[in-house]
Amino acid sequence: MSIKGKVALVTGASSGIGAATALKLAANGATVGLAARRIDRLSNLQAKIEAGGGTAIAIEMDVVDAASVTAGVEKLASAFGSIDIVFNNAGLMPISDMEALKTDEWHRMVDVNVKGLLNTVAAVLPHMVRQKSGHMVNTSSIAGRKVFPGLAVYCATKHAVTALSEGMRLELSKKHNIKITCVQPGAVETELFEHISDGDYRQQMEALKDQMEFLKPEDIADTILYALQAPDRVDIAEVFVMPTQQP
Ligand code: NDP
Repeated sequence: MSIKGKVALVTGASSGIGAATALKLAANGATVGLAARRIDRLSNLQAKIEAGGGTAIAIEMDVVDAASVTAGVEKLASAFGSIDIVFNNAGLMPISDMEALKTDEWHRMVDVNVKGLLNTVAAVLPHMVRQKSGHMVNTSSIAGRKVFPGLAVYCATKHAVTALSEGMRLELSKKHNIKITCVQPGAVETELFEHISDGDYRQQMEALKDQMEFLKPEDIADTILYALQAPDRVDIAEVFVMPTQQP
């Protein structure tokens, strides 16, 4: 199945996995809506895609703000006529122990990683139901399968993404011909660690880079492309992708 001519929305497209996936989708002929808060980054990515002969639009979007998500989705749909693919990928991972009571960070993770994803689902689902087709790819994590110290809240949000993905698959695939893929990466070399405010955890996470070779964002982009290009009869429901050296 080719994705040529399909219209895709990518949240968290301003860096890391989202940016790499947006580039990959555009290189394979999709029209890509690039969504995030850092519009300068998105404009640069748009220019890069256009220079390569692809089509993209930068959409300033805060996934926590439902109105911003709806406006962005409507902008994409009215410009290109449909929403065929959504990559629900915006997220953050500040690490700390529960007893540190970094409650702002807890709430921020729930707001972005879970409620942000739900805001996007609410905005795109009516389009996909009306079209009787669509493919949503949701970024969970190894942390959506296992729990680690320091990551209790993050793991809770990613377990929520895993559960939501399976719930949506059960409700939407047969009834509305909408595929759902839950992608669960291990460690990927991105900007994700930059938001860790706890000095010890930040150091521990950075030290992992000396112990193993992290995945590249492009590895996840390739995985997503594989799921999106599967034949109509095949829904790649869950993909767990690990660095070879990560236990
Ligand atoms: P990055 O920090 O590079 O990218 C995170 C993206 O999320 C940025 O584009 C950022 O854009 C966006 N984002 C954050 N908050 C918001 C918001 N409120 N509204 C819109 N966009 C937002 O990290 P990754 O690429 O690694 O992260 C992408 C996803 O992958 C996340 O969900 C993460 O949890 C997950 N993941 C990452 C792993 C890793 O090892 N890197 C492993 C497993 C899963 P901006 O700041 O411009 O808004």
